[in-house]
Amino acid sequence: MSEPAAPEKIVVIDDDDTMRLSCRKILAKMGLHAETFEDGARGLDGVATLKPALVIVDLKMPGLSGMEVISRVHEIDPHTIIVVITGYATIDTAVEAVRSGAYDFLPKPFPPEELRLVVNRGLERRRLAMEAEQHEIEQTMLKRRFVTFVSHQLRTPLVAIHQYLDVLKHLDQQHDIASPRRQEWLDRCLIRIEELQNLIADWLTLAQVEGGTLSKERIKVDLNSVISGILKTYEETASEKGVSLQTHFSEDGLSVAGDRNCLNVLFDNLIVNAIKYNKPGGTVTVSGNHSRGEVVIAIADSGVGIPEKYRPFLFDEFFRVKDDSAKKTAGTGLGLHISKKIVSEMGGTIDVESELGVGSTFYVRLPAWREPEATIGGQKDARREEANIDCR
Ligand code: ADP
Repeated sequence: MSEPAAPEKIVVIDDDDTMRLSCRKILAKMGLHAETFEDGARGLDGVATLKPALVIVDLKMPGLSGMEVISRVHEIDPHTIIVVITGYATIDTAVEAVRSGAYDFLPKPFPPEELRLVVNRGLERRRLAMEAEQHEIEQTMLKRRFVTFVSHQLRTPLVAIHQYLDVLKHLDQQHDIASPRRQEWLDRCLIRIEELQNLIADWLTLAQVEGGTLSKERIKVDLNSVISGILKTYEETASEKGVSLQTHFSEDGLSVAGDRNCLNVLFDNLIVNAIKYNKPGGTVTVSGNHSRGEVVIAIADSGVGIPEKYRPFLFDEFFRVKDDSAKKTAGTGLGLHISKKIVSEMGGTIDVESELGVGSTFYVRLPAWREPEATIGGQKDARREEANIDCR
């Protein structure tokens, strides 16, 4: 069981005993841990050791003024929320305090409810600011990791192509070398170039998915026709690998609300994988059913299977299973990541069942298409035109 979160810490700095006592009581009732200090200097020591989420400070105190406390608190931690209280509030003092970095201010006397409100608002604001900062840090790290990884991915085939071309150049100078050798090196170059092209294509698709250029418009798309079209395209590739393709679709239409191009990308990725990671004499069976308002598409293969320890990472960007059979198969490790993004964007889910050496089944669940309600005039909503957004 996880530990309950520690109460957030609040520091109250005020030379008025009654004010300190009342604030402490009200804050304790809110489930917060309040520490009080009677002057600015002690208060700042308290802030430095306690690292509170919020500081309540009286503007007028003997010794260090409230204004000085505000700027010093932010030197200790710029995320600390500061609420000022003052006995002689004027617009000018309030504005000055806010300019100096205070979040809000409370004129004395104030009812407990007002203190609760301003403290809750301040804590929420801090939480949001910290979340936003954390998100920004994560994005920056992700970008850095992505750039490093992609540069590496691009460099490896380029270095190989360079070496093959270098060998070819030397082969050309030795006239006794038979042309099959030359052909072999050229073929290797072409394979590496194809890898680069696939990487760039997947990379661009991912950028479109992540950049939100996926259509928000939803039109009726029949998955039976999308999937049958894809299977037709791969008939030859599958038969070259000795893999047979089968479908089992339920009688009622398997329509969803989505973008045809994006659905094509999604099922193309899954069907290509089912063929690619299959065994000679294997099968790929795509079935489609309706279940509780959802269309469920299962892409089952009798291929190499996915080791259990790798399954949690399967949908991560650039993830590839690190074993011999996967190493022999070309890929970018972006297909499943893109597929998951597309499914999530459509309000669906994707998961996998797999047995090593036996095969894998990917399940895609998408909300089924619902006919638009009849309008008051008795006519149905005009069907939207298919969006012209291309995922590839
Ligand atoms: P890739 O371009 O490498 O195929 P994907 O994101 O489509 O990238 O898949 C990630 C990894 O998951 C693959 O490298 C492969 O190891 C594994 N994988 C995906 N689909 C299957 C499958 N049907 N059978 C076995 N392994 C699979």
